[in-house]
Amino acid sequence: MLKRRIFLIPVFVITTLTFTYCTGKPELSRTEFALGTVCSVTLYDKGNPAIYRDIFSRLREIENYMSVNLPDTDVARINAAAGVAPVQVHDDVFKVIQKALYFAEISGGAFDPTVGPLVSLWGIGSENPRVPSQAEIDAALSLINWRDVELDKEQRSVFLRRPGMALDLGAIAKGYAADEAAVIIRKAGLKQAIIDLGGNILVYGEKKDKSPWRVSVQDPLEDRGRSLGVITGPEATMVTSGVYERFFEADGQQYHHIFSPFNGYPADTGLLSVTIISKNSIDADALSTAVFVLGYEKGRALIEPLEGTEAVFVFNDQSVRKTEGANLKINNNSYILIPD
Ligand code: FAD
Ligand code: MG
Repeated sequence: MLKRRIFLIPVFVITTLTFTYCTGKPELSRTEFALGTVCSVTLYDKGNPAIYRDIFSRLREIENYMSVNLPDTDVARINAAAGVAPVQVHDDVFKVIQKALYFAEISGGAFDPTVGPLVSLWGIGSENPRVPSQAEIDAALSLINWRDVELDKEQRSVFLRRPGMALDLGAIAKGYAADEAAVIIRKAGLKQAIIDLGGNILVYGEKKDKSPWRVSVQDPLEDRGRSLGVITGPEATMVTSGVYERFFEADGQQYHHIFSPFNGYPADTGLLSVTIISKNSIDADALSTAVFVLGYEKGRALIEPLEGTEAVFVFNDQSVRKTEGANLKINNNSYILIPD
């Protein structure tokens, strides 16, 4: 069980950064609120403010297309037209939904972008979260099925077949946004950068001294910045899904925000968190959620055949397991790495 209410993201174990936030001057790092979370970008080549501006406006653009918390986004329009008519969407939205359906398929529906009715019902992260009745959960479950999303490539349109269905891209859109931020960094010809979108981390390029990147894995039971271990390696993305990101308490129980589309409750598979290491952040984001819902054995079976994809599993009893290629060192006595 969690010891306290925390809201956090994996934090870097990288040398002290001097923060020079002066308009017009090169900045080492910039932090802004976007996509419902704290987003930080560090451009080691002393990013010029125009690049930060481009990155953060791209993040906001993606939010404005994909949020379910804003009116008139493409996703809000798709949901409003559920059971009625297909809705034409921006390229970004179409691509993310296509990917979401792919991950729904390969995860056997553990990841399901039509989880919207359950998210609204529980209200976790909203001002009024609550434990719904079984009848309400059953009603929401009857509306969840990724196979009822119709895509039309020619029209670039999306149709939810049944009224009441609702997309929620919260488990995948931040990954896409991190990849898109990396595209801007690449185009600008920068050499090293870190993108941190509330738990979606992307380390870009090579460090000047050629040493590997070091990214810490958050201790899911402690405050922000307390790590359980460090992952080292080259350019990659590391995305974590965990019980600690968003939750509420009722009657002495804690309920977190990652739902099992099979029973309508917060997924309870004995895991505190799952971190996926991969090349693309969109993949890592979808997979971290999928694996969290599937649990260790099925989740590992999903990850192992995927090239360039590794995972770290943290269990309720504070034991840790990892796939072979995950370069993790535990640095916290409360956790034990179980060898294969
Ligand atoms: P992840 O594991 O990556 O995703 C969990 C989230 O995905 C859940 O919160 C739920 O939304 C959804 N989900 C739950 N179970 C499943 C499942 N089985 N399959 C698929 N999806 C599932 N937060 C705010 O508080 N206010 C906002 O206005 C807001 N706007 C946002 C706009 C955008 C475009 C995005 C991408 C996010 C926004 N968020 C907002 C944050 C959003 O709620 C986060 O994505 C959320 O905190 C989950 O991210 P995570 O990385 O912790 O967990
Ligand atoms: Mg995710």
